[in-house]
Amino acid sequence: MPAPQFHLTFGESVAHHPDIEPAVRRAVASEPVYTHLGAIFHDLPYYGNMIAEAIRYGLERPALDAPWAYRMHCIRPDRFVAHFIRAARTTPGLTREEGLALVGGILSHCALDLTLHPLVNYCARRDTALYGGHETYHHRIVEKYHALFFHLERFGEDVIGRRDFSLKTRVVKRGSLVRADAEPQIVAFMHDVYRGAYGNAPTAGQWTAWVRSFRHFGLMVGNEIAARNSRKVRQNELFRQRFYVGDGFDFHDFYAHSERRLAELVNLGYRYFEAADFSPPAEAEFCRFAHIDNLADPDGLGLPHLPALPTELVRPRRRRPFQKPPFSRAA
Ligand SMILES: [Zn+2]
Repeated sequence: MPAPQFHLTFGESVAHHPDIEPAVRRAVASEPVYTHLGAIFHDLPYYGNMIAEAIRYGLERPALDAPWAYRMHCIRPDRFVAHFIRAARTTPGLTREEGLALVGGILSHCALDLTLHPLVNYCARRDTALYGGHETYHHRIVEKYHALFFHLERFGEDVIGRRDFSLKTRVVKRGSLVRADAEPQIVAFMHDVYRGAYGNAPTAGQWTAWVRSFRHFGLMVGNEIAARNSRKVRQNELFRQRFYVGDGFDFHDFYAHSERRLAELVNLGYRYFEAADFSPPAEAEFCRFAHIDNLADPDGLGLPHLPALPTELVRPRRRRPFQKPPFSRAA
């Protein structure tokens, strides 16, 4: 999961991508709420309990398990997306524009995960080897800095700390900060997607609670305290070298692939949506062309090479005491 702010921005970028089918670009521009929903759909289960998550992050503990997020990222993620597109086209009550915005959003999530996770995983695994601690903790740190430096370069300012960012975390049209609720057609859509891909689905109550929690996250980072933190951490040039443009890797080389993959996937999804043939052979063909192998740990084929990970994976304090070889003389 690149940071949520990155996923939301990347979803919006569909509207400006010169190689993307104009119908999808227009839909994404005119339906921002559903574009954002599509862009964060895979990661919503991580927002099950915002307060517990924030405390764990503060204590450098591993992230909470989120079984639905694991499924969407790792268990036939291609088929999951195929069902998402089918349901976006066929759910009664969704307009064509809304459906296409959802499709643009979800495929932007896939494109970003597939092309940036190899770099994120490299940095997180390197730091776990060098400094100890949990990989999921380092993973979130890396993603936070990718999002920060990317937004600074692209837009001159971070999105964290801005009030309009917290509005973007509103990903359904009904429901509020206190009420876990959503418009019935989007709940029906969600059920259809999950059941089509996995045979069962989160309950409406569970899913709308994630959606509401995501808004709480928006409030937590859309304020002056978060803005001050963002201004402080960006001063440190070491973080830039450690995560963004460092020894043997450059974020920009990976991001170029994110944009290329975005156009490929969105145009493929658009054709699948338009053809409206959701038979098993058509689904299999979509999956073959999409090549969405594993969103959490993609194969990285065609991406830039990364340096080898440090080989010393045993943390020094866990290492057994050094034993002198027999018969050697003490120095
Ligand atoms: Zn993800």
